[in-house]
Amino acid sequence: MNPSDTLVIVGAGHAGGRAALTLREAGFAGRIVLIGDEAHLPYERPPLSKALLKGGFKGECSLASCSLFSEASFIASGIEHLSGVRVTGIDTAQHSVVLDTGVSLVYSKLLLALGGTSRRLELAEHQLNNVHYLRTFDEAVELEKRLSPGTRLVVVGGGFIGLEVASSARDRGCEVTVLEAGARLAARALPARVSEALLTLHRCKGVVVRLAAQIEAFHGENRIDSVQLASGERIPCDVLLVGIGMQPNLELAHQAGLETGSGIKVDAFLQTSAEDVYAAGDVCEFARNDGVFHRQETWCNAEAQGRVAALNMLGQQQPFTGVPGFWSDHFEFGLQTVGVLAADAQIIEREGVEDGFLLLYLDRQSRLVGASGWGAGNNIAKDIKLCERLIESQTLLPAQQLADASVSLKGLLRGAHA
Ligand code: FAD
Ligand code: NAP
Repeated sequence: MNPSDTLVIVGAGHAGGRAALTLREAGFAGRIVLIGDEAHLPYERPPLSKALLKGGFKGECSLASCSLFSEASFIASGIEHLSGVRVTGIDTAQHSVVLDTGVSLVYSKLLLALGGTSRRLELAEHQLNNVHYLRTFDEAVELEKRLSPGTRLVVVGGGFIGLEVASSARDRGCEVTVLEAGARLAARALPARVSEALLTLHRCKGVVVRLAAQIEAFHGENRIDSVQLASGERIPCDVLLVGIGMQPNLELAHQAGLETGSGIKVDAFLQTSAEDVYAAGDVCEFARNDGVFHRQETWCNAEAQGRVAALNMLGQQQPFTGVPGFWSDHFEFGLQTVGVLAADAQIIEREGVEDGFLLLYLDRQSRLVGASGWGAGNNIAKDIKLCERLIESQTLLPAQQLADASVSLKGLLRGAHA
Protein backbone atom coordinates (compact mmCIF):
# COMPACT_ATOMS: atom_id res chain seq x y z
CA MET A 1 0.00 0.00 0.00
CA ASN A 2 1.32 3.42 -0.96
CA PRO A 3 1.56 5.93 1.92
CA SER A 4 -0.14 8.54 -0.31
CA ASP A 5 -3.22 6.31 -0.60
CA THR A 6 -6.49 7.27 1.09
CA LEU A 7 -8.45 4.49 2.76
CA VAL A 8 -12.09 5.40 3.31
CA ILE A 9 -14.46 3.60 5.65
CA VAL A 10 -18.19 4.35 5.47
CA GLY A 11 -20.00 3.46 8.68
CA ALA A 12 -18.33 4.36 11.98
CA GLY A 13 -19.93 1.54 13.96
CA HIS A 14 -18.34 -1.61 15.31
CA ALA A 15 -16.97 -3.14 12.09
CA GLY A 16 -15.90 0.24 10.69
CA GLY A 17 -14.21 1.28 13.93
CA ARG A 18 -12.43 -2.06 14.28
CA ALA A 19 -11.22 -1.82 10.68
CA ALA A 20 -9.84 1.70 11.19
CA LEU A 21 -7.93 0.59 14.29
CA THR A 22 -6.60 -2.51 12.52
CA LEU A 23 -5.29 -0.44 9.60
CA ARG A 24 -3.15 1.56 12.00
CA GLU A 25 -2.11 -1.45 14.10
CA ALA A 26 -1.00 -3.18 10.90
CA GLY A 27 1.32 -0.26 10.17
CA PHE A 28 -0.55 1.80 7.57
CA ALA A 29 0.66 5.34 8.17
CA GLY A 30 -1.32 7.07 5.40
CA ARG A 31 -4.68 8.78 5.38
CA ILE A 32 -7.67 6.97 6.90
CA VAL A 33 -11.07 8.66 6.72
CA LEU A 34 -13.86 7.15 8.83
CA ILE A 35 -17.28 8.54 7.93
CA GLY A 36 -20.33 7.98 10.11
CA ASP A 37 -23.76 9.55 10.38
CA GLU A 38 -23.88 9.15 14.18
CA ALA A 39 -22.41 11.90 16.35
CA HIS A 40 -20.13 9.55 18.31
CA LEU A 41 -16.85 7.73 18.00
CA PRO A 42 -17.39 4.03 17.12
CA TYR A 43 -18.88 2.04 19.99
CA GLU A 44 -20.09 -1.49 20.75
CA ARG A 45 -23.88 -1.92 20.85
CA PRO A 46 -24.41 -4.92 23.19
CA PRO A 47 -24.39 -2.83 26.42
CA LEU A 48 -27.20 -0.61 25.08
CA SER A 49 -29.88 -3.21 25.88
CA LYS A 50 -28.11 -4.68 28.93
CA ALA A 51 -25.79 -2.97 31.42
CA LEU A 52 -26.45 0.60 30.29
CA LEU A 53 -30.21 0.24 30.25
CA LYS A 54 -30.24 -1.65 33.54
CA GLY A 55 -27.82 0.58 35.40
CA GLY A 56 -29.09 3.90 34.14
CA PHE A 57 -27.07 6.21 31.95
CA LYS A 58 -24.21 8.18 33.32
CA GLY A 59 -23.79 10.66 30.52
CA GLU A 60 -20.55 10.55 28.60
CA CYS A 61 -19.17 7.85 30.98
CA SER A 62 -21.71 5.43 29.58
CA LEU A 63 -20.60 6.12 26.04
CA ALA A 64 -16.93 5.86 27.00
CA SER A 65 -17.54 2.45 28.57
CA CYS A 66 -18.61 0.96 25.24
CA SER A 67 -16.46 3.03 22.91
CA LEU A 68 -13.87 1.29 20.73
CA PHE A 69 -11.50 4.25 21.17
CA SER A 70 -10.68 6.44 24.11
CA GLU A 71 -10.63 10.11 23.11
CA ALA A 72 -6.85 10.16 23.63
CA SER A 73 -6.14 6.99 21.64
CA PHE A 74 -8.34 8.28 18.85
CA ILE A 75 -6.42 11.55 18.60
CA ALA A 76 -3.13 9.64 18.72
CA SER A 77 -4.28 7.36 15.88
CA GLY A 78 -4.51 10.26 13.44
CA ILE A 79 -7.65 8.76 11.90
CA GLU A 80 -9.92 11.44 10.40
CA HIS A 81 -13.44 10.97 11.75
CA LEU A 82 -16.24 12.73 9.90
CA SER A 83 -19.04 12.41 12.44
CA GLY A 84 -22.67 13.25 11.74
CA VAL A 85 -21.89 12.98 8.03
CA ARG A 86 -23.77 10.74 5.65
CA VAL A 87 -22.40 9.26 2.44
CA THR A 88 -25.05 9.69 -0.25
CA GLY A 89 -23.36 8.16 -3.27
CA ILE A 90 -20.47 6.03 -4.52
CA ASP A 91 -18.86 6.24 -7.95
CA THR A 92 -16.87 3.04 -8.31
CA ALA A 93 -15.46 4.05 -11.73
CA GLN A 94 -14.09 7.33 -10.32
CA HIS A 95 -13.19 5.72 -6.96
CA SER A 96 -15.06 8.43 -5.07
CA VAL A 97 -17.79 8.87 -2.47
CA VAL A 98 -20.17 11.83 -2.18
CA LEU A 99 -21.01 13.24 1.26
CA ASP A 100 -24.23 14.95 2.28
CA THR A 101 -22.15 18.08 2.74
CA GLY A 102 -21.76 18.11 -1.05
CA VAL A 103 -18.05 17.26 -0.86
CA SER A 104 -16.58 14.35 -2.87
CA LEU A 105 -13.74 12.24 -1.58
CA VAL A 106 -11.46 10.01 -3.67
CA TYR A 107 -10.53 6.64 -2.23
CA SER A 108 -7.82 4.12 -3.01
CA LYS A 109 -9.74 1.42 -1.13
CA LEU A 110 -13.22 1.67 0.33
CA LEU A 111 -14.88 -0.31 3.12
CA LEU A 112 -18.66 -0.35 3.50
CA ALA A 113 -19.56 -1.12 7.12
CA LEU A 114 -23.07 0.28 6.97
CA GLY A 115 -24.90 -1.89 9.51
CA GLY A 116 -28.68 -1.85 9.43
CA THR A 117 -31.82 0.02 10.39
CA SER A 118 -34.51 -1.17 12.79
CA ARG A 119 -37.55 -2.53 10.97
CA ARG A 120 -40.45 -0.10 11.57
CA LEU A 121 -44.03 -0.74 12.55
CA GLU A 122 -46.58 1.06 10.44
CA LEU A 123 -48.02 3.63 12.83
CA ALA A 124 -49.73 6.98 12.43
CA GLU A 125 -47.54 10.05 13.07
CA HIS A 126 -49.58 11.11 16.12
CA GLN A 127 -48.98 7.72 17.77
CA LEU A 128 -45.21 7.94 17.74
CA ASN A 129 -44.72 9.95 20.95
CA ASN A 130 -44.13 6.94 23.18
CA VAL A 131 -42.76 4.53 20.55
CA HIS A 132 -39.10 3.51 20.79
CA TYR A 133 -36.60 1.57 18.69
CA LEU A 134 -33.17 0.52 19.86
CA ARG A 135 -30.16 0.52 17.60
CA THR A 136 -28.10 3.55 18.62
CA PHE A 137 -26.72 5.06 21.80
CA ASP A 138 -28.97 8.10 21.37
CA GLU A 139 -32.05 5.87 21.11
CA ALA A 140 -30.96 4.01 24.25
CA VAL A 141 -30.66 7.31 26.14
CA GLU A 142 -34.21 8.24 25.13
CA LEU A 143 -35.61 4.83 26.11
CA GLU A 144 -33.82 4.82 29.45
CA LYS A 145 -35.44 8.13 30.43
CA ARG A 146 -38.88 6.51 30.09
CA LEU A 147 -38.23 3.46 32.29
CA SER A 148 -39.25 3.99 35.92
CA PRO A 149 -40.67 1.62 38.54
CA GLY A 150 -44.26 0.86 37.53
CA THR A 151 -43.91 2.01 33.91
CA ARG A 152 -46.05 -0.25 31.73
CA LEU A 153 -43.74 -1.26 28.91
CA VAL A 154 -45.15 -3.17 25.96
CA VAL A 155 -42.53 -4.84 23.78
CA VAL A 156 -43.39 -5.85 20.22
CA GLY A 157 -41.10 -8.71 19.14
CA GLY A 158 -39.74 -11.53 21.26
CA GLY A 159 -36.28 -11.52 19.68
CA PHE A 160 -32.99 -10.36 21.18
CA ILE A 161 -33.73 -6.65 21.47
CA GLY A 162 -37.22 -7.23 22.85
CA LEU A 163 -36.17 -9.78 25.45
CA GLU A 164 -33.01 -8.02 26.60
CA VAL A 165 -34.92 -4.78 27.04
CA ALA A 166 -37.71 -6.69 28.82
CA SER A 167 -35.16 -8.13 31.25
CA SER A 168 -33.43 -4.79 31.93
CA ALA A 169 -36.74 -2.94 32.32
CA ARG A 170 -38.14 -5.60 34.65
CA ASP A 171 -35.01 -5.31 36.80
CA ARG A 172 -35.83 -1.58 37.00
CA GLY A 173 -39.31 -2.33 38.30
CA CYS A 174 -41.32 -1.84 35.10
CA GLU A 175 -44.43 -3.90 34.30
CA VAL A 176 -43.47 -5.62 31.06
CA THR A 177 -45.52 -7.41 28.39
CA VAL A 178 -43.81 -9.02 25.38
CA LEU A 179 -45.84 -9.67 22.23
CA GLU A 180 -44.23 -12.21 19.94
CA ALA A 181 -45.88 -13.08 16.63
CA GLY A 182 -44.22 -16.50 16.36
CA ALA A 183 -44.91 -19.70 18.27
CA ARG A 184 -41.73 -19.40 20.33
CA LEU A 185 -39.13 -16.81 21.35
CA ALA A 186 -36.23 -15.85 19.04
CA ALA A 187 -37.19 -18.85 16.91
CA ARG A 188 -34.99 -17.99 13.95
CA ALA A 189 -31.77 -17.91 15.93
CA LEU A 190 -32.30 -20.32 18.83
CA PRO A 191 -33.01 -24.03 19.31
CA ALA A 192 -36.43 -24.82 20.81
CA ARG A 193 -34.99 -25.81 24.20
CA VAL A 194 -33.19 -22.46 24.60
CA SER A 195 -36.36 -20.59 23.59
CA GLU A 196 -38.19 -22.59 26.25
CA ALA A 197 -35.60 -21.73 28.92
CA LEU A 198 -35.92 -18.05 28.00
CA LEU A 199 -39.69 -18.19 28.22
CA THR A 200 -39.64 -19.91 31.61
CA LEU A 201 -37.13 -17.43 33.03
CA HIS A 202 -38.95 -14.31 31.76
CA ARG A 203 -42.29 -15.57 33.07
CA CYS A 204 -40.74 -16.49 36.45
CA LYS A 205 -39.43 -12.94 36.68
CA GLY A 206 -42.89 -11.52 36.09
CA VAL A 207 -42.65 -10.61 32.41
CA VAL A 208 -45.95 -11.32 30.67
CA VAL A 209 -45.13 -13.09 27.41
CA ARG A 210 -47.78 -13.62 24.75
CA LEU A 211 -46.74 -16.03 21.98
CA ALA A 212 -48.50 -16.16 18.59
CA ALA A 213 -49.75 -12.68 19.47
CA GLN A 214 -51.65 -10.92 16.71
CA ILE A 215 -51.86 -7.19 17.15
CA GLU A 216 -55.21 -5.86 15.97
CA ALA A 217 -54.83 -2.14 16.75
CA PHE A 218 -52.90 0.52 18.63
CA HIS A 219 -55.15 2.91 20.56
CA GLY A 220 -54.48 6.42 21.83
CA GLU A 221 -54.83 10.07 20.86
CA ASN A 222 -51.36 11.59 21.11
CA ARG A 223 -49.56 8.44 22.14
CA ILE A 224 -50.27 4.72 22.25
CA ASP A 225 -52.09 4.04 25.50
CA SER A 226 -53.16 0.46 24.77
CA VAL A 227 -52.48 -2.35 22.35
CA GLN A 228 -55.36 -4.53 21.25
CA LEU A 229 -54.78 -8.16 20.34
CA ALA A 230 -56.88 -10.23 17.91
CA SER A 231 -58.21 -12.09 20.96
CA GLY A 232 -59.86 -8.81 22.03
CA GLU A 233 -57.51 -8.31 24.99
CA ARG A 234 -56.34 -4.71 25.50
CA ILE A 235 -52.90 -4.23 27.05
CA PRO A 236 -52.32 -0.86 28.73
CA CYS A 237 -49.18 0.88 27.55
CA ASP A 238 -47.04 3.77 28.78
CA VAL A 239 -44.07 2.99 26.53
CA LEU A 240 -43.90 0.85 23.39
CA LEU A 241 -40.58 -0.72 22.37
CA VAL A 242 -40.44 -2.24 18.90
CA GLY A 243 -37.86 -5.00 18.29
CA ILE A 244 -38.99 -6.74 15.12
CA GLY A 245 -35.63 -7.15 13.41
CA MET A 246 -33.42 -5.00 11.28
CA GLN A 247 -32.82 -4.40 7.61
CA PRO A 248 -29.28 -4.02 6.26
CA ASN A 249 -28.49 -0.60 4.80
CA LEU A 250 -28.24 -1.49 1.11
CA GLU A 251 -29.24 1.78 -0.60
CA LEU A 252 -25.66 2.86 -1.34
CA ALA A 253 -24.76 -0.58 -2.72
CA HIS A 254 -27.84 -0.60 -4.98
CA GLN A 255 -27.09 2.89 -6.23
CA ALA A 256 -23.47 1.95 -6.94
CA GLY A 257 -24.51 -1.21 -8.79
CA LEU A 258 -22.79 -3.61 -6.39
CA GLU A 259 -23.95 -7.20 -6.34
CA THR A 260 -26.40 -7.73 -3.48
CA GLY A 261 -28.59 -10.47 -2.07
CA SER A 262 -29.81 -10.20 1.49
CA GLY A 263 -26.69 -8.06 2.00
CA ILE A 264 -23.72 -6.73 0.01
CA LYS A 265 -22.20 -9.82 -1.58
CA VAL A 266 -18.49 -10.39 -1.01
CA ASP A 267 -15.91 -13.02 -1.96
CA ALA A 268 -13.78 -14.99 0.50
CA PHE A 269 -11.62 -11.88 1.04
CA LEU A 270 -14.62 -9.66 1.81
CA GLN A 271 -14.24 -7.82 -1.50
CA THR A 272 -17.48 -6.75 -3.18
CA SER A 273 -18.24 -7.08 -6.89
CA ALA A 274 -16.48 -3.70 -7.41
CA GLU A 275 -12.72 -3.42 -7.48
CA ASP A 276 -11.17 -1.95 -4.30
CA VAL A 277 -14.51 -1.96 -2.45
CA TYR A 278 -14.94 -4.20 0.60
CA ALA A 279 -17.84 -4.86 2.99
CA ALA A 280 -17.97 -6.04 6.61
CA GLY A 281 -20.39 -6.54 9.50
CA ASP A 282 -24.19 -6.75 9.54
CA VAL A 283 -24.45 -5.49 5.95
CA CYS A 284 -22.12 -8.11 4.48
CA GLU A 285 -23.35 -11.29 2.80
CA PHE A 286 -20.66 -13.94 2.58
CA ALA A 287 -20.28 -17.67 1.95
CA ARG A 288 -20.02 -19.88 5.03
CA ASN A 289 -17.62 -22.84 5.09
CA ASP A 290 -20.45 -24.99 3.69
CA GLY A 291 -20.84 -22.60 0.74
CA VAL A 292 -24.20 -21.15 1.85
CA PHE A 293 -24.40 -17.35 1.46
CA HIS A 294 -25.75 -15.52 4.48
CA ARG A 295 -25.39 -12.48 6.74
CA GLN A 296 -24.63 -12.41 10.43
CA GLU A 297 -25.90 -9.74 12.78
CA THR A 298 -23.49 -10.33 15.66
CA TRP A 299 -20.71 -8.66 17.63
CA CYS A 300 -18.25 -11.47 16.79
CA ASN A 301 -18.87 -11.06 13.09
CA ALA A 302 -18.44 -7.27 13.12
CA GLU A 303 -15.25 -7.64 15.14
CA ALA A 304 -13.70 -10.37 12.97
CA GLN A 305 -14.78 -9.04 9.58
CA GLY A 306 -13.68 -5.50 10.46
CA ARG A 307 -10.19 -6.86 11.10
CA VAL A 308 -9.98 -9.12 8.05
CA ALA A 309 -11.37 -6.50 5.66
CA ALA A 310 -8.78 -3.99 6.91
CA LEU A 311 -5.88 -6.41 6.37
CA ASN A 312 -7.13 -7.21 2.88
CA MET A 313 -7.43 -3.50 2.07
CA LEU A 314 -3.70 -3.41 2.85
CA GLY A 315 -3.02 -6.09 0.26
CA GLN A 316 -3.00 -9.20 2.44
CA GLN A 317 -5.11 -11.98 0.95
CA GLN A 318 -6.72 -13.33 4.13
CA PRO A 319 -9.84 -15.42 3.62
CA PHE A 320 -12.57 -14.82 6.19
CA THR A 321 -13.03 -18.11 8.05
CA GLY A 322 -14.37 -17.05 11.46
CA VAL A 323 -16.56 -19.51 13.39
CA PRO A 324 -19.89 -17.71 13.97
CA GLY A 325 -21.16 -17.07 17.47
CA PHE A 326 -23.25 -14.82 19.70
CA TRP A 327 -24.44 -14.39 23.25
CA SER A 328 -27.42 -12.80 24.95
CA ASP A 329 -28.00 -11.94 28.63
CA HIS A 330 -31.31 -12.11 30.55
CA PHE A 331 -31.62 -11.40 34.27
CA GLU A 332 -28.93 -13.59 35.91
CA PHE A 333 -28.77 -16.01 32.97
CA GLY A 334 -27.01 -16.07 29.65
CA LEU A 335 -27.15 -17.99 26.40
CA GLN A 336 -24.37 -18.55 23.93
CA THR A 337 -24.15 -20.15 20.52
CA VAL A 338 -21.18 -21.10 18.36
CA GLY A 339 -20.89 -22.62 14.90
CA VAL A 340 -23.80 -23.61 12.70
CA LEU A 341 -26.98 -25.07 14.21
CA ALA A 342 -27.62 -27.16 11.11
CA ALA A 343 -31.20 -28.35 10.61
CA ASP A 344 -30.07 -31.88 9.64
CA ALA A 345 -27.60 -32.31 12.53
CA GLN A 346 -27.92 -34.86 15.33
CA ILE A 347 -28.53 -32.92 18.57
CA ILE A 348 -26.92 -34.23 21.76
CA GLU A 349 -28.23 -32.77 25.03
CA ARG A 350 -25.68 -32.38 27.84
CA GLU A 351 -27.02 -31.30 31.22
CA GLY A 352 -25.15 -28.73 33.32
CA VAL A 353 -25.42 -27.17 36.77
CA GLU A 354 -28.16 -24.75 38.00
CA ASP A 355 -30.62 -25.51 35.16
CA GLY A 356 -27.87 -25.04 32.61
CA PHE A 357 -27.45 -27.22 29.52
CA LEU A 358 -25.54 -27.52 26.30
CA LEU A 359 -26.92 -28.69 22.95
CA LEU A 360 -24.27 -30.18 20.68
CA TYR A 361 -24.88 -30.39 16.93
CA LEU A 362 -23.09 -33.28 15.17
CA ASP A 363 -22.85 -33.84 11.43
CA ARG A 364 -23.17 -37.27 9.75
CA GLN A 365 -19.47 -38.03 10.42
CA SER A 366 -20.02 -37.25 14.12
CA ARG A 367 -18.03 -33.98 14.00
CA LEU A 368 -19.21 -31.01 16.00
CA VAL A 369 -20.61 -28.25 13.75
CA GLY A 370 -22.42 -26.10 16.31
CA ALA A 371 -23.40 -25.74 19.96
CA SER A 372 -25.89 -23.69 21.92
CA GLY A 373 -25.96 -23.40 25.69
CA TRP A 374 -27.80 -21.82 28.57
CA GLY A 375 -26.67 -21.22 32.11
CA ALA A 376 -26.48 -18.98 35.16
CA GLY A 377 -24.17 -15.97 34.86
CA ASN A 378 -21.37 -16.68 32.47
CA ASN A 379 -21.28 -20.44 33.29
CA ILE A 380 -21.73 -21.57 29.73
CA ALA A 381 -18.85 -19.49 28.31
CA LYS A 382 -16.08 -22.01 29.06
CA ASP A 383 -17.92 -24.90 27.41
CA ILE A 384 -18.78 -22.80 24.38
CA LYS A 385 -15.11 -21.84 23.99
CA LEU A 386 -14.18 -25.55 24.10
CA CYS A 387 -16.91 -26.27 21.54
CA GLU A 388 -15.42 -23.65 19.24
CA ARG A 389 -12.08 -25.45 19.44
CA LEU A 390 -13.75 -28.83 18.87
CA ILE A 391 -15.49 -27.43 15.78
CA GLU A 392 -12.19 -26.09 14.46
CA SER A 393 -10.42 -29.40 15.18
CA GLN A 394 -12.96 -31.39 13.10
CA THR A 395 -12.56 -34.24 15.63
CA LEU A 396 -14.79 -37.31 15.36
CA LEU A 397 -16.72 -37.36 18.65
CA PRO A 398 -18.55 -40.22 20.37
CA ALA A 399 -22.15 -39.07 20.92
CA GLN A 400 -22.61 -41.03 24.18
CA GLN A 401 -19.57 -39.42 25.75
CA LEU A 402 -20.74 -35.95 24.74
CA ALA A 403 -24.06 -36.55 26.46
CA ASP A 404 -22.29 -37.56 29.67
CA ALA A 405 -21.51 -34.40 31.65
CA SER A 406 -18.87 -36.30 33.66
CA VAL A 407 -16.77 -36.66 30.48
CA SER A 408 -14.96 -33.37 30.13
CA LEU A 409 -15.01 -31.52 26.82
CA LYS A 410 -11.43 -30.51 27.53
CA GLY A 411 -10.51 -34.20 27.72
CA LEU A 412 -12.17 -34.85 24.36
CA LEU A 413 -10.29 -31.92 22.86
CA ARG A 414 -6.99 -33.17 24.33
CA GLY A 415 -7.75 -36.59 22.85
CA ALA A 416 -8.18 -34.90 19.51
CA HIS A 417 -4.73 -33.36 19.75
CA ALA A 418 -3.00 -36.46 21.22
P1 FAD B 1 -23.26 -0.90 13.15
O1 FAD B 1 -22.58 -1.10 14.46
O2 FAD B 1 -24.73 -0.69 13.12
O3 FAD B 1 -22.54 0.33 12.41
C1 FAD B 1 -22.96 0.85 11.18
C2 FAD B 1 -22.80 2.35 11.22
O4 FAD B 1 -22.87 2.88 9.90
C3 FAD B 1 -23.90 3.05 12.01
O5 FAD B 1 -23.34 3.99 12.87
C4 FAD B 1 -24.73 3.73 10.91
O6 FAD B 1 -25.41 4.86 11.38
C5 FAD B 1 -23.64 4.07 9.91
N1 FAD B 1 -24.09 4.34 8.54
C6 FAD B 1 -24.97 3.61 7.82
N2 FAD B 1 -25.13 4.15 6.59
C7 FAD B 1 -24.33 5.23 6.53
C8 FAD B 1 -24.05 6.21 5.51
N3 FAD B 1 -24.63 6.17 4.31
N4 FAD B 1 -23.17 7.21 5.79
C9 FAD B 1 -22.58 7.26 7.02
N5 FAD B 1 -22.79 6.36 8.00
C10 FAD B 1 -23.65 5.35 7.77
N6 FAD B 1 -24.55 -8.96 19.04
C11 FAD B 1 -24.10 -10.00 19.80
O7 FAD B 1 -23.43 -10.89 19.27
N7 FAD B 1 -24.38 -10.06 21.13
C12 FAD B 1 -25.11 -9.12 21.76
O8 FAD B 1 -25.35 -9.23 22.96
C13 FAD B 1 -25.62 -8.03 21.00
N8 FAD B 1 -26.36 -7.07 21.58
C14 FAD B 1 -26.86 -6.05 20.82
C15 FAD B 1 -27.66 -5.09 21.43
C16 FAD B 1 -28.22 -4.07 20.67
C17 FAD B 1 -29.08 -3.05 21.32
C18 FAD B 1 -27.97 -4.00 19.28
C19 FAD B 1 -28.57 -2.90 18.44
C20 FAD B 1 -27.16 -4.94 18.66
C21 FAD B 1 -26.60 -5.98 19.43
N9 FAD B 1 -25.78 -6.96 18.86
C22 FAD B 1 -25.30 -7.99 19.61
C23 FAD B 1 -25.47 -6.92 17.42
C24 FAD B 1 -24.15 -6.16 17.15
O9 FAD B 1 -24.07 -5.00 17.92
C25 FAD B 1 -24.10 -5.81 15.67
O10 FAD B 1 -24.03 -7.02 14.96
C26 FAD B 1 -22.92 -4.90 15.33
O11 FAD B 1 -23.07 -3.64 15.91
C27 FAD B 1 -22.79 -4.74 13.83
O12 FAD B 1 -21.76 -3.87 13.56
P2 FAD B 1 -21.71 -3.07 12.16
O13 FAD B 1 -20.47 -2.25 12.21
O14 FAD B 1 -21.91 -4.01 11.05
O15 FAD B 1 -22.98 -2.13 12.19
P1 NAP C 1 -34.66 -10.32 15.85
O1 NAP C 1 -33.69 -10.99 16.76
O2 NAP C 1 -34.71 -10.69 14.42
O3 NAP C 1 -36.08 -10.56 16.53
C1 NAP C 1 -37.27 -9.99 16.07
C2 NAP C 1 -38.42 -10.83 16.63
O4 NAP C 1 -39.64 -10.14 16.43
C3 NAP C 1 -38.54 -12.18 15.96
O5 NAP C 1 -38.83 -13.15 16.92
C4 NAP C 1 -39.68 -11.95 14.99
O6 NAP C 1 -40.35 -13.13 14.63
C5 NAP C 1 -40.57 -11.05 15.81
N1 NAP C 1 -41.50 -10.24 15.01
C6 NAP C 1 -41.32 -9.78 13.74
N2 NAP C 1 -42.38 -9.00 13.39
C7 NAP C 1 -43.24 -8.97 14.44
C8 NAP C 1 -44.48 -8.34 14.69
N3 NAP C 1 -45.05 -7.55 13.77
N4 NAP C 1 -45.09 -8.54 15.89
C9 NAP C 1 -44.51 -9.30 16.85
N5 NAP C 1 -43.32 -9.95 16.67
C10 NAP C 1 -42.68 -9.77 15.49
O7 NAP C 1 -34.45 -8.76 15.85
P2 NAP C 1 -34.29 -7.74 17.05
O8 NAP C 1 -34.49 -8.41 18.34
O9 NAP C 1 -35.14 -6.57 16.69
O10 NAP C 1 -32.79 -7.31 16.96
C11 NAP C 1 -32.35 -6.41 15.94
C12 NAP C 1 -30.88 -6.54 15.71
O11 NAP C 1 -30.12 -6.40 16.90
C13 NAP C 1 -30.51 -7.89 15.16
O12 NAP C 1 -29.50 -7.65 14.25
C14 NAP C 1 -29.99 -8.62 16.36
O13 NAP C 1 -29.06 -9.62 16.01
C15 NAP C 1 -29.30 -7.53 17.11
N6 NAP C 1 -29.24 -7.86 18.54
C16 NAP C 1 -28.56 -8.94 18.94
C17 NAP C 1 -28.51 -9.25 20.28
C18 NAP C 1 -27.77 -10.48 20.69
O14 NAP C 1 -27.21 -11.17 19.87
N7 NAP C 1 -27.71 -10.73 21.99
C19 NAP C 1 -29.14 -8.48 21.22
C20 NAP C 1 -29.87 -7.39 20.78
C21 NAP C 1 -29.90 -7.09 19.42
P3 NAP C 1 -39.94 -13.80 13.22
O15 NAP C 1 -38.53 -14.25 13.35
O16 NAP C 1 -40.92 -14.91 13.10
O17 NAP C 1 -40.10 -12.73 12.17
